[in-house]
Amino acid sequence: MTDKKVDIVVIGAGLTGLTLAFYLEKAGKKVILLEKNERVGGVIHTEEEDGFVYEKGPNTGVISSEAIVQLFDDLKEKCELVTPKPQAKERWILKNGKWEPISSGLIQAITTPLFRWRDKVKILGEPWRKKGTNPDESLAELVKRRMGKSFLDYAVDPFISGIYAGDATKLITRYAMPKLYNLEQNYGSFVKGSIKKKKESKTALQKRVSREIFSAKGGLNKLISALEQSISDDAIFCGCQQIKVKKEELGFTTEFHSREGEQFRVSSSSVVTTFGGKGLLDILPFVQKKCLNPVANITYAKVVQVVLGYKKWNGKKINAFGGLVPSVEKRNILGVLFPGALFDGRNPEQGAILSVFVGGVKKPEMIEKSDDEIRSMVLDEISSTLESEDQPDLFKVFRYENAIPQYDITTKERYEAISQIENEFEGLFLSGNIKDGIGMADRVKQARELSDRLL
Ligand SMILES: Cc1cc2nc3c(=O)[nH]c(=O)nc-3n(C[C@H](O)[C@H](O)[C@H](O)COP(=O)(O)OP(=O)(O)OC[C@H]3O[C@@H](n4cnc5c(N)ncnc54)[C@H](O)[C@@H]3O)c2cc1C
Repeated sequence: MTDKKVDIVVIGAGLTGLTLAFYLEKAGKKVILLEKNERVGGVIHTEEEDGFVYEKGPNTGVISSEAIVQLFDDLKEKCELVTPKPQAKERWILKNGKWEPISSGLIQAITTPLFRWRDKVKILGEPWRKKGTNPDESLAELVKRRMGKSFLDYAVDPFISGIYAGDATKLITRYAMPKLYNLEQNYGSFVKGSIKKKKESKTALQKRVSREIFSAKGGLNKLISALEQSISDDAIFCGCQQIKVKKEELGFTTEFHSREGEQFRVSSSSVVTTFGGKGLLDILPFVQKKCLNPVANITYAKVVQVVLGYKKWNGKKINAFGGLVPSVEKRNILGVLFPGALFDGRNPEQGAILSVFVGGVKKPEMIEKSDDEIRSMVLDEISSTLESEDQPDLFKVFRYENAIPQYDITTKERYEAISQIENEFEGLFLSGNIKDGIGMADRVKQARELSDRLL
């Protein structure tokens, strides 16, 4: 048994754990980062094969927090933030089998064929509508109330499929889309709030926060490698087994077996878990099961991600970020992204790479389908919506049982349970995408805030 003493043990080396360990070490803290898999990065995973560079997990993030801007600045020697090519910024929504461009501008909202005339008139009246009073209002209810049903069906529903692989009728706005909730609560309207927020004075860093999409040059793994290289070698343990945390009179002891089978015992004043709800009961045996249950029982969307690579693309011209499919269209895919149109170097010249999302909370059974069934289903959709009859040169299927946590009606209870546990066991922090948002920019923001608290 090897004994070690550090300031903080971080469990889980996805984007949250890596960012946290990076900032803690940068501030002079001694950290150990424990990861059960053989590699760091969690669901972020870029592969290169046969002239294609593709993502197995998230494809792009949004530059929606100061923390993500700062992180790329801090890692600029090792990785480069990239934003979409200007010609590929359009987003498409499928209506009656045809892709229609959608934009967040008011003029486009009025001229698009996506929404009914009745709702277009309703959108014009949005600034004068009364604000909601139900703090647990679902996203679907909020949008129907302020913008109308067709806006829910052809803007918000597909958008929620794209982000949460979720169901807008189940997601609670103040947890799932807190910025939207606050616009209504603080300014009385989305339109008025957006205009006023634009006029507020901002720091240089805040000015760089936007709705712009990002990746890293060469794929998101470059961000992960940059973080990994910036953390001390002896701080990261991959392939850890039998991790168990014990509460001591002062602080904690974390025991684990390394990949090589060596047994370690690490004492620390703080322990941070970053890996979500599943597995917490095993690792934190000193926390009562009934306290952890609301966290451990969180609902996740099951997602299948399918990557299709074409050395020569003969289908519809792909000059967009991607296309999302509203539930009312009753198709077999949630949406498709075009990473090769967004960023250089993702597919051979003349070729294309598509990332297709299938399943989600509305179709969890999709994850049970075989690769052959998924292939024929996805190629049917590609043929009918993107006019390509060709067989792909690259075909990959990735299944995620616990892809995206759902910030539904149980979120309040989960947040309360997390606070209660953290108050009872000083120095223990439950983080990761079980709270504070699921996007990569949210993960980095949470890690940054947590590192500030721990310092
Ligand atoms: C298919 C998919 C597509 C997505 N698309 C996008 C997108 O386009 N844009 C976006 O912003 N976000 C997207 N997301 C969400 C985003 O990628 C995640 O929220 C974020 O990367 C999660 O980072 P994390 O570090 O919190 O968790 P994870 O990446 O899940 O990392 C947790 C780590 O903990 C480890 N671990 C788990 N259990 C244990 C244990 N018991 N002991 C030790 N280690 C453990 C895991 O192996 C993992 O490495 C997507 C997610 C998925 C799954």
